[in-house]
Amino acid sequence: MKISCPTCDETKMLKMIKSTKEISVRNDKITVEVEYYQCIACGEEFLVPQPENDPFVKAYRKYRQKHMLLQPEEIKAFRRKYKLTQGELADLLGLGGATLSRYETGKIQDESHDTLLRLVLNPENLQGLITASPGILSEEKKLKILNVMKESEEPRIDMLERFVIRNFSDYPADELSGFKRFDRDKFLNAILYFCSGDGESKTKLNKLLFYADFQHFKEYTNSITGAQYARVPFGPAPNGYDLYYSILVQRGSIRAEEVEYPGFASHKTGFTGEKYVAREVPDLNIFSPGELRILATVKERFKGFSAKEISGCSHLEKGYTETSTGKIISYAYAKYLKL
Ligand SMILES: [Zn+2]
Repeated sequence: MKISCPTCDETKMLKMIKSTKEISVRNDKITVEVEYYQCIACGEEFLVPQPENDPFVKAYRKYRQKHMLLQPEEIKAFRRKYKLTQGELADLLGLGGATLSRYETGKIQDESHDTLLRLVLNPENLQGLITASPGILSEEKKLKILNVMKESEEPRIDMLERFVIRNFSDYPADELSGFKRFDRDKFLNAILYFCSGDGESKTKLNKLLFYADFQHFKEYTNSITGAQYARVPFGPAPNGYDLYYSILVQRGSIRAEEVEYPGFASHKTGFTGEKYVAREVPDLNIFSPGELRILATVKERFKGFSAKEISGCSHLEKGYTETSTGKIISYAYAKYLKL
């Protein structure tokens, strides 16, 4: 861009001056840096006409930052994310459409309006507001917004997963974890490995993980995944597994299917249980050759076993019989493992 003096059209004898300026915004004095040109020929001082150079725009941005108000582009980005028009969002919030438009183009918002806007940035609040305001949005629009929410659910699941890992897996590397800290990647990929193809019932998956970790401990004195196993009625199971598996289902790593198990002689109707099918290819590169061999051995050893059959095997393990219900099974029992 060619810059020239607006008074005398001079283009060469221009000097850029940087200084600061104090601007009063809502009774608050805001100091901003300003850049402007001085024409040596005629003495005129002028700003380069770009919005980001406007000292008032700068002062407003600084004021919003200082008072923790949303910036115009944050409001716009939120509205565009959900494909809401200015009118629709204004109606949902009970603001005038012109008011919202002015905020998006740089007017400083009222604090109460800022609070409202911040509240709807939370998807749950937005959903609540939409439900509580029938007639403002078309059904088609509501569906679109729900889809956007679903697509951006991922980070929330990550947060939940971190919470679960912190609460169920933040234990020392001792004989209850096979002298290893919980390894989230190995735990996940062992699950994907066992559940690849037709999948595995939850009960059987629990036992496969138990046998793999305990067998590895027996041979190498540490576990593969660092998981703790608790004694539960159907045999040993990773501690806190239900919550962990449901997170993997939610984030799409595995798929849950309901399965019917045939009845036994005494229970003619049978019962239903859950089966998990891997939806991602396991990353086997993260396992050592010894770990891989043991994972494969365990998978092969129990191939064709029903959940009931593998439960039966695990019930005979000394680690299971000598641990009380709900308690963690010590890897010290791994030496008695009958694999
Ligand atoms: Zn000039």
